[in-house]
Amino acid sequence: RFITLEGIEGAGKSTQQAVVCDCLQQAGIAVELTREPGGAALSERIRSLLLDPANQGMAVDTELLLMFAARAEHLQRTIRPALAAGRWVLCDRFTDATYAYQGGGRGVARERIALLETFVQGQLRPDLTLLFDLPPHVGLRRARGRSAPDRFEAEAEAFFERARAEYLRIAEREPRRVRRIDADRPSAAISAELRDLLTAYVA
Ligand code: C5P
Repeated sequence: RFITLEGIEGAGKSTQQAVVCDCLQQAGIAVELTREPGGAALSERIRSLLLDPANQGMAVDTELLLMFAARAEHLQRTIRPALAAGRWVLCDRFTDATYAYQGGGRGVARERIALLETFVQGQLRPDLTLLFDLPPHVGLRRARGRSAPDRFEAEAEAFFERARAEYLRIAEREPRRVRRIDADRPSAAISAELRDLLTAYVA
């Protein structure tokens, strides 16, 4: 199975990825932990290009294609081999993030993203997506307190409002795959909900 974690900056995905991993392992499942953009050597190098504030002003199509180039490499090197070996893949961000950030955030038409999605992934889609949802002003306060802002974190709050709206639209359209989790709560409450959800999911 292929599980993805999504949400805007400061939603607590990294913390909760460890909780999800722990739950699955306790159920005897072998887990491959990975992330996007990244998750393979070349994909991590593409990630550096994408996040570097020196690349401010990168053309939107360049950003979009680099995201999918990183994803193509990640799929071939990491995701498909792990799934083929029977491991469950737990990925911090995937193509929903492209719909949210490059689509909602930067205004790329959904149809253009969908073309690349099929081109790069064929039929592969996540089986389950955990959407950590919270208002951008809360998330950004958390994320910006952490480290120097990358090229995306430097965006205005309105950018993240649009990204969040797109995530919520996806959740509404695909309620079976995408589970919305209220991330504007203490992390212990979020972890508890996750454990319940995953116990039912693996059963
Ligand atoms: O989740 P993480 O902070 O590692 O993601 C790195 C950055 O890449 C984030 O700022 C996120 O907004 C951005 N990103 C993006 N489009 C994607 C995936 C990630 O803009 N498709």
